[in-house]
Amino acid sequence: MYPVDLHMHTIASTHAYSTLRDYIQQAQICGVKLLAITDHGPDMADAPHYWHFVNMRVWPRQVDGVGILRGIEANIKNTDGDIDCTGPMLEVMDMVVAGFHEAVFSPRDKATHTEAMIAAMASGNVHIISHPGNPKYPVDIPEIAAAAAKYDVALELNNSSFTHSRPGSEPNCRAIVAAVKDAGGWLSCGSDSHTAFTLGNFEHCLRIINEVDFPQDRILNVTPRRLLDFLARRTGKKIIELADM
Ligand SMILES: [Zn+2]
Ligand SMILES: [Zn+2]
Repeated sequence: MYPVDLHMHTIASTHAYSTLRDYIQQAQICGVKLLAITDHGPDMADAPHYWHFVNMRVWPRQVDGVGILRGIEANIKNTDGDIDCTGPMLEVMDMVVAGFHEAVFSPRDKATHTEAMIAAMASGNVHIISHPGNPKYPVDIPEIAAAAAKYDVALELNNSSFTHSRPGSEPNCRAIVAAVKDAGGWLSCGSDSHTAFTLGNFEHCLRIINEVDFPQDRILNVTPRRLLDFLARRTGKKIIELADM
């Protein structure tokens, strides 16, 4: 159990079924202290409008003791490092996750996927790469792990990749966790919840972490402070209202 979950979707993406309030309530039940809402970037079918993201500045920073981060799961668009989160949208974000989704970037070949993922990391606008073990998007694992360590980007271990989504991910995920360990990079755990009921569920992430004997001190989710320090270093901004976390 980690007290930080960094990947979840609300009803703003209509293939998800919970509200911000639902996630706060579930956080109190399951012990999550800090969460990041990461609805899909606007280039994805079924994603919220650009305004949805720009207006996230009206959100409270903390509700009932649970810290809320303004995030996005942006789409990697091409091999030039572009994502669908720019300008005023990017400015409002505390945290940017980015990954491949078929509606925006159709699967190509391993070299192209690797190039596009590394370009997104090199852009400086991305903090976490979502579900890099997706077998539909094979990548050069040692290369992406080295780039992630170089650009201070975390690679995600996505619990839903072992349950409802992206079947066949497990061998890739295990190899990625081992490669991040060797490269000395950061690992991020995400439930990728589409209902609040799975918030903080890292059952399969923990299993892989144990199997690979991945060091706890390189996992962003271990304490809220670790994640907030990582984001402050990456963005150059401190979230004053969460300073006591
Ligand atoms: Zn995704
Ligand atoms: Zn997601």
